[in-house]
Amino acid sequence: MDVVDDQVFDSLPLSQESFQELWNTMLPPPLAALPSGVGDDWLPDIMPNDSLNEFDNLFGCNSTISVPPDTPLTPAAPTVPTTSDYAGVYGFQLRFQKSGTAKSVTSTYSSVLNKLYCQLAKTCPVEVLVDRDPPQGAILRATAVYKKTEHVAEVVRRCPHHQQEDVVEHRSHLIRVEGSQRAQYMEDPNTKRQSVTLPYEPPQLGSMHTTLLLNFMCNSSCMGGMNRRPILAILTLESPEGQVLGRRCYEVRVCACPGRDRKIEEGNIEKSEGTKLAKKRRNAPAAAPAAQPKKVVSSSSAEEDPDKEVFVIQVRGRERYETLKKINEGLELLEKSKNKREVFGGPSRGKRRLWDKTDEGTD
Ligand SMILES: [Zn+2]
Repeated sequence: MDVVDDQVFDSLPLSQESFQELWNTMLPPPLAALPSGVGDDWLPDIMPNDSLNEFDNLFGCNSTISVPPDTPLTPAAPTVPTTSDYAGVYGFQLRFQKSGTAKSVTSTYSSVLNKLYCQLAKTCPVEVLVDRDPPQGAILRATAVYKKTEHVAEVVRRCPHHQQEDVVEHRSHLIRVEGSQRAQYMEDPNTKRQSVTLPYEPPQLGSMHTTLLLNFMCNSSCMGGMNRRPILAILTLESPEGQVLGRRCYEVRVCACPGRDRKIEEGNIEKSEGTKLAKKRRNAPAAAPAAQPKKVVSSSSAEEDPDKEVFVIQVRGRERYETLKKINEGLELLEKSKNKREVFGGPSRGKRRLWDKTDEGTD
């Protein structure tokens, strides 16, 4: 970490404060001004201690920072390959060219779905980016794994039909690297999982990334192979000793019409999200009957006084809603009692002094 980052970090001690502490520093002064009998008991009601703790937990104020399970020391080739993204200290990232969803497209990536759609054996360029150079002799490895838990134990291989048609030694491998003589096809002796590796090459002068050309050698629908089971491609950056330095995963569908299929599946996501939203809207009044704050002021007076403008906030979860509602009620109460005192000349110090002065003046 460099100097600037350290300074930024040092300037954030406030964020370490718990909500309880923040709450305590904020509320006592206005509370003290409340006349006795008016809502003396509203503070304990608003935020019982356990809900404060929940608040703290929610924002991670007291929780310890969890260390990511994958440290660079994890050895490669576990029984079930890990599929979580991990940028690592070298900032390993992938980028796909924008190919759109035209009929003629042979490979197209959906960032919404983190899914590549491509045709059988067609070139799929993947741009590899790093923040800084990995160690000399680092490699890139591509592996395929079934996406669903019920299939994950099975090794991904080409279907018998496509294997028979092929003559190369690595004919059973689903993923191939195109355009490099340095690609190596491997099968782990323990897990039997297949992968292809390529020495990592730093970007050429004037470029930010290295391009990797991959081919997928079966259709997702191939009988006896993927058999319509979705797969993930796992790309890892590894040290010469086989330690994983970075990992990126994306789903792959090998099909006849990548553009069309991407369009359909992205459309389905939009639709289902639209339905979810609509459902939520329909359920909202029943789930939270008083979700809308009471409108106490007309819009004309709101225009005159910005403090009287009414806002609506959306709150997730009833418990949190009840908590925020109580806070708001408390503030309303405070406001009301303040106004009362102003009208009837209550124990507000500012007003009292004004009265005293006037009294003295008339005498
Ligand atoms: Zn096949």
